[in-house]
Amino acid sequence: MRTIQWFPGHMAKARREATEKMNLVDIVLELVDARLPESSRNPMINEIIGNKPRIIVLNKMDMADPAITDFWVKYYQEQGIKAVAIDAQHNKGLNKLQSLCRELMSDYFEKRLAQGVKPRPIRLMILGIPNVGKSTLINRFVGKNQAITGNKPGVTKAQRWLKIGKDFELLDTPGILWPKFEDPEVGLKLAASGAIKDQLLALDDIALYLLGFMKRFYHQALLKRYAITESDLQNLSLSDLLILLTEKNGFGDDYTQMSQRMIYEYRENNLGQMTLDRPIREVTNA
Ligand code: GDP
Repeated sequence: MRTIQWFPGHMAKARREATEKMNLVDIVLELVDARLPESSRNPMINEIIGNKPRIIVLNKMDMADPAITDFWVKYYQEQGIKAVAIDAQHNKGLNKLQSLCRELMSDYFEKRLAQGVKPRPIRLMILGIPNVGKSTLINRFVGKNQAITGNKPGVTKAQRWLKIGKDFELLDTPGILWPKFEDPEVGLKLAASGAIKDQLLALDDIALYLLGFMKRFYHQALLKRYAITESDLQNLSLSDLLILLTEKNGFGDDYTQMSQRMIYEYRENNLGQMTLDRPIREVTNA
């Protein structure tokens, strides 16, 4: 996991770099985590992107609740923003993403073709907070064999373009933006997903949040995963439930270890497909 601490100076620099990159491209791919699409957006994203055509890409759809992912895709589309769900890790949805890019640029293509001029490749960049899968998506797009230079200090500033088929060029380094976590609940979601350092919050707070969340929305998955009874779930407070799980899993009274295990399991997708950002109106209650 990244260990960036976002101080105001870092934010100003990240913003400046993102804006500079944006001037070079036709379309911005705003990458978010499908499990927390709203909480994994940068707070100033609209200001930073301005009028530049953009697609919200909900990555890690394999880890999110499919019905809620559909909700979020429609939600963004209703706001006039193109959106698509993908799984960069397993190469799913990338063709659809490319089709959306072509749709966004169709006027440009038509104009060029009407003028008898061959359209140049569409230039793309990926923008998002840490851990949403930016590097994974770049690697998927360009294939295994292409070397990717990291966004490391000291590496030459010159921009490199990576070719994707004949229609696209992708900026080889993504724009990295800071997450927002002033809202405690957003902070817990970001920590659970691995977007911010574990040390920023207490592990048991994150685990208690996950427990409460599962109790409310993924009741059956919780019973199944941890072999607890309906009556435990109904009668125990969340802290007592955590203590029970700690004992049941052989950690004695070390609930921090149990918390760590639970967070790890959530990140490894062992607790089931769960979306932490819920729609305004619930579409499912598993
Ligand atoms: P970045 O910080 O935005 O560049 O994120 P990375 O590309 O380094 O990805 C962060 C973590 O998420 C890595 O462990 C990836 O393997 C994982 N990851 C990225 N995309 C996906 C996806 O679509 N599905 C799943 N399950 N994991 C993913």
